[in-house]
Amino acid sequence: MPNRLMPAFPEPDTQPFWEGAKRSELRYQRCDTCQSIVFTPRAHCTACGSAKLSWHTSKGLGTIYTYSVVRQNRNPAFADLGAYAVAYVDVDEGFRMLTNIVGAADPTKDIKVGQRVQVEFEAQTSGAFPVPVFRPV
Ligand SMILES: [Zn+2]
Repeated sequence: MPNRLMPAFPEPDTQPFWEGAKRSELRYQRCDTCQSIVFTPRAHCTACGSAKLSWHTSKGLGTIYTYSVVRQNRNPAFADLGAYAVAYVDVDEGFRMLTNIVGAADPTKDIKVGQRVQVEFEAQTSGAFPVPVFRPV
């Protein structure tokens, strides 16, 4: 299966996130000025504009906020997946993440809003960074 699309590296705003993914760490940022959680990774706080952000590692647990099932996708990285779930997951540390839900035998029936999920990292080939996805627990 072809790799998923990746940012063009070097990419200063998100590279620490992807380096964490290589170690199976789901990383997020917290503003050192106003303590807001910042996700997706970026150079400045979305609440106060401060550039003083620090990196933290999530425990990788969350709850499905909402989801949709994609039944057909022509992108080569997704074409062979069959039906798959795209979801927003509310991660316990306080950020919402767009991701995939994996491990459901039938994603049209086996995934529910409010379901608890845990992160895992989908390996890519040829040195590309692993992609965080979530699996029901
Ligand atoms: Zn801030």
